Amino acid sequence: MSFGSTAAPAMLLKSPREIDVMARGGVILRGALVAMRDAVKPGISTLELDAIGEAFIRGHPGAEPAFKGLYGFPGSVCISINEEIVHGIPSRKRVLNDGDIVTVDVGVKLDGMYTDAAITVPVGTIDALTQRLLDVTERALAAGIAAATPENHIGDIGHAVQSIVEAEGFSVVRELVGHGVGFSPHEELQIPNYGKPKRGKKLVPGLTIAIEPMVNVGTAKTRTLSDKWTVVTADAKRSAHFEHTVAITEQGPRILTL
Ligand code: MG
Repeated sequence: MSFGSTAAPAMLLKSPREIDVMARGGVILRGALVAMRDAVKPGISTLELDAIGEAFIRGHPGAEPAFKGLYGFPGSVCISINEEIVHGIPSRKRVLNDGDIVTVDVGVKLDGMYTDAAITVPVGTIDALTQRLLDVTERALAAGIAAATPENHIGDIGHAVQSIVEAEGFSVVRELVGHGVGFSPHEELQIPNYGKPKRGKKLVPGLTIAIEPMVNVGTAKTRTLSDKWTVVTADAKRSAHFEHTVAITEQGPRILTL
C-alpha cells in the first residue's frame, strides 16, 4: 500500500532483532507474491488472486495479511489492473485479459512486525511500451534502494527514482509515496519517488522503509474511483508499481522482502 500525505513524520528505529523478524515476514511475503505471479493468466479474477495470496500467508504459522481490514480495505491484497495505480479491490468481476498488466501489493504481519511489497506482472503477451514501463519501474526501484544508505538523505532516494523514470519519458506519481514500515504497516515518515540530493531527513541505521515507485506512461496526475479506494491515472494510460521493504544498515541497504 502507499500513503497520502500526513504531518509530523517520525523516524521509528528498529533493533537488529526486530529487523530480522521483518526479514522472516518478508520471505513469506515474497512467497505470496510469487504464488500470485505464477497464477496470473488470462481468465483469472482478482478475487482468486487475492485468495491465493491470503492462503499462502496464512499457511505460515503466526503470519497474517496486514492489509485485510486496514482502514477498512476489504481484501488481503491490493490488486490493480492497467491504468489502476494502487489499491484496487479484489473482485470476482475483475478478470484478467491477455495483454493486461496487474499489480499485486501485499503486507505481512509476523510476530508483531510488518513488511510491504508489490510487483507488476504481465498477463500473457504485453506490448513493447508496457514491457519498457515494467523494466524502467523495476530499475527505478533498484536505484532507489541503492541510494538508501546512511550517508544519504530521503531526497537521494527520490532523486534516484525520478532520474531514471524521467530519462525514459515516463512520470512518477507524486500524490502517493513510500513510507516507514515495521511497527505498523504505515509509519508516518514519507519516502517520495521524487526529490533532490541531500534534501530531507538523513537516513540512519535502524530505519525501515517501503520504497515503492509508481510510474506512469503518461501524466503523473491521479484520481480516485467512486469505490474510494482504487487510484487510477488521470489520463487512463498505464501505470506500474514495484515495492520492497528495506532496512538502512551500517553496511548499506538490506532488502527485507526477498
Ligand atoms: Mg507501501
